Amino acid sequence: MLESQGLELELDFGLFPCYDWISTPGNTVNWWKLCWNSLNVPKSSFIYWAVMLGRLLTRDRLAKMGDPTSMECYLCQGADESHGHLFFECEFSRKCSDLVQQKLTIRLNPRALVEWNKRGRRLSILRRRMVCACYVMVVYLIWQARNKARTMFTVIHPKVIVQQAIQAISIRFWARNKAPIKEEDISWLNSLRSS
Ligand SMILES: [Zn+2]
Repeated sequence: MLESQGLELELDFGLFPCYDWISTPGNTVNWWKLCWNSLNVPKSSFIYWAVMLGRLLTRDRLAKMGDPTSMECYLCQGADESHGHLFFECEFSRKCSDLVQQKLTIRLNPRALVEWNKRGRRLSILRRRMVCACYVMVVYLIWQARNKARTMFTVIHPKVIVQQAIQAISIRFWARNKAPIKEEDISWLNSLRSS
């Protein structure tokens, strides 16, 4: 099992619960819209999907598989690394979340992004899709930052994570959008360019 430590994701698809999820009629998950948002960068959708299923090889999972090394979080060294800690509780992730919310001029609980997307009807669909895609990209980049910290012993600044996420999603939006955009959304989108 230790040989698989260098992989980003467990590759034994036989262990994935997705087979049951796909094969059981009516057994749907509430985060699929976030996962398959067309503004998502595809690799970020895949990592987000794995996060939602708790399938990344975080240190708590490796420990259960017999890895005797520390479970300490690579990004903050302040707690054991688990999906919950890495993406929601870690000081590093919280900072990323605060910064992306500042930039997107929204306020939400990252653990309740699905509910926010349902409730946030006063925002345009365009903004909600952009916000969700940016958050999914941030999750992907946090995982990348964690892997870089593991292999290169260096931690990327949360500001860089947020800049990369917003830039990547903005580029996808402007390359794909053919629909007319409301004036208020244009000024919001332009405000993201200065990130
Ligand atoms: Zn941490």
